[in-house]
Amino acid sequence: MNAFRRALRSGQFVGGPEVSNFESEFASYCESGSCVAVNSGTDALRFAYLALGLKPGDEVITVAHTFIATAEAISQAGGKIKFVDVEERVMTMDPAAARAAIGPRTVGMVPVHLYGHPADLDPILAMAANHGLWVVEDAAQAHGARYKNRRVGSLGTLGCFSFYPGKNLGSLGEGGAVVGSDEAVLNTIKLLREHGQSSKYVHEIEGYNGRMHAIQAAFLRIKLRYLDAWNAARRRVAGLYRAALSEFGELILPPESRDAEDVYHLFVIRTAARDALRDHLTASGIGTGLHYPRPLHLQRAYANLGLSVGNLPATERAAATCLSLPIFPEMTDVHVGQVADAVRSFFKG
Ligand SMILES: *Cc1c(COP(=O)(O)O)cnc(C)c1O
Repeated sequence: MNAFRRALRSGQFVGGPEVSNFESEFASYCESGSCVAVNSGTDALRFAYLALGLKPGDEVITVAHTFIATAEAISQAGGKIKFVDVEERVMTMDPAAARAAIGPRTVGMVPVHLYGHPADLDPILAMAANHGLWVVEDAAQAHGARYKNRRVGSLGTLGCFSFYPGKNLGSLGEGGAVVGSDEAVLNTIKLLREHGQSSKYVHEIEGYNGRMHAIQAAFLRIKLRYLDAWNAARRRVAGLYRAALSEFGELILPPESRDAEDVYHLFVIRTAARDALRDHLTASGIGTGLHYPRPLHLQRAYANLGLSVGNLPATERAAATCLSLPIFPEMTDVHVGQVADAVRSFFKG
């Protein structure tokens, strides 16, 4: 309420000091050089692609097992999407598939740290360096996650975040940010978010209306102080699930990797009996989610890419078997126990 009053009294509702303070605090949280706050994660991605110089006909490699914003922003920035498969176990970009997809028009790659689990960045960054490509990390589900001890978002050319309410760091509306250390590129993003203005009514380029609201920045500054504790609480819940549910043939738990500190945006199990298990949990009063049930290359929106069933087999298997169990920082041992009991009773019954 104090932050709300402060933002209200300032009379500056869009941009301003709340936003620039949030930007420095979030950049330092991400262990990155700078941050530009914008109006959504989708804007963050679109402005990142545009600022990196994406031109019509340029190809960008990304995955089809993600939320559509990752891909949508590529075409909206004028680029051509090149979907590649995910690795079977971790469900993030398969570096070998990405390597095979690099062609003469390829300019960049967009790995997604899906469910809060860092994608395997080292081979992707090495490939990008070899071929002169940029890497935009879609970190919309992974605020605070670490890959080999470094915060995700700070490893690629740019890192993009969303502060949609359901994310690990959520505002009370829409919000997003780009982090990075190339000041020239970040300055272009500042122009893009504000109609290309370098100063009032001086327009260097055509831009967009993509600014963050002061009230969102004020709330995010408070919530940022709790983020590490909330992520640790999510990891604790994940640990309870792992202790209560052992993996066997028909039930696969989320991947664990020595290189990754996961922030468990979601706790996604996999089973061939996914739909029946989901019905069983619903009947037991347990809400679940599907992230995501239909891969992007099989959506009507991407029929123009000419891909069909069988083109991205690991992606299609992930879509057919994934089930998101409840996870949130305040979840108690009792709640986790109830969910785990219901899952076990399904397989035993
Ligand atoms: C939420 C999300 C986005 C888009 O963020 P918005 O703030 O909703 O625009 C992009 N990519 C991924 C992977 C997401 O989960």
